[in-house]
Amino acid sequence: MSINQSVLICDQVNPTLNEILEKNGLQVTYEPEITSEQIAEKIGSYEVVVVRSRTKITSELIQKAGKCKIIARVGVGLDNIDQDAAKEKNIRVINSVEGAMNAVAELVIGLMLSLARDISRADREVRNGNWIKKELMGSELRGKYLGIIGLGNIGKRLARLAKSFNMNIIGFDVIPIDEEFSKEVGLMKADLDTLLASSDYVSLHVPLLDSTKHMINSEKIATMKNTARIINTSRGGVIDEEALYDALKVGNLEGAALDVFEVEPATSNKLATLPNFISTPHMGAQTKEAQLLAANVIAEKIIQILRGVI
Ligand code: NAD
Repeated sequence: MSINQSVLICDQVNPTLNEILEKNGLQVTYEPEITSEQIAEKIGSYEVVVVRSRTKITSELIQKAGKCKIIARVGVGLDNIDQDAAKEKNIRVINSVEGAMNAVAELVIGLMLSLARDISRADREVRNGNWIKKELMGSELRGKYLGIIGLGNIGKRLARLAKSFNMNIIGFDVIPIDEEFSKEVGLMKADLDTLLASSDYVSLHVPLLDSTKHMINSEKIATMKNTARIINTSRGGVIDEEALYDALKVGNLEGAALDVFEVEPATSNKLATLPNFISTPHMGAQTKEAQLLAANVIAEKIIQILRGVI
């Protein structure tokens, strides 16, 4: 049976999402560059609003969303949606954790390898005609201690991948970590301070909450080895960027790689002036496979909710 309702897609998503929704009779408006002013004018006409991370669905927009039943985030983090305002209006907020899991975990492996072997700098130098082999004495991931903060979907996937590099995995989470998984990867459970003091690499996989804002600050960095490297692909704001800058500048940390920033796009962030820093433009989930999977999951959830199945 066809579902006669309207969907506004506000960010760039895999075309599979539109195809599945339209096949089920939904009318889809695809506006991947829409501004919040334009959303404010239109949102009242749609039962479903779909976003990725670019579009912010604020309380003001939700007040205008008179017909809205579902706000769908193609991806994981829901910090761009005012969930309290949505709940008050009885609007379901859904996401798709499945898509990003492997993509983000693989990016972390890439960033760790890049930090260990200075791959970004090596490439830049060769392009500029400099054969700096002697300066590029790297290190290996094998045998190093990887501290994973937040062992949810992505943290767990990273642990499994890192194990295949023969890394030793230390884990910290605020909820109990399941025993079967811990055995599988040989996880050493630790509190945050022990993890920070013991790790050669620290990777963050927590949501941005009041309790995680600046959880890595100057005091915490001071407890880390000065040969340690830190990677953040979770959310900007979990690391205090000023503290990170100071530590990298004076050599209290060996290196850092960030995919997420306190202010995005981070095109003029002073961290990028440091030689021991690597940045990527919030591209953790930006793989064909992740986007296709996320589009399928979200389409299925929207249809099932509108049909009253879930
Ligand atoms: P998840 O919900 O499966 O796991 C998060 C884990 O963090 C949970 O186990 C939770 O208990 C734990 N946690 C919460 N507060 C904590 C704290 N104070 N200390 C330690 N652990 C804490 O989420 P996920 O799917 O693994 O995603 C993790 C993060 O990655 C999220 O912030 C998400 O927004 C981000 N993410 C980024 C990208 C990207 O493009 N870079 C893509 C997808 C997801």
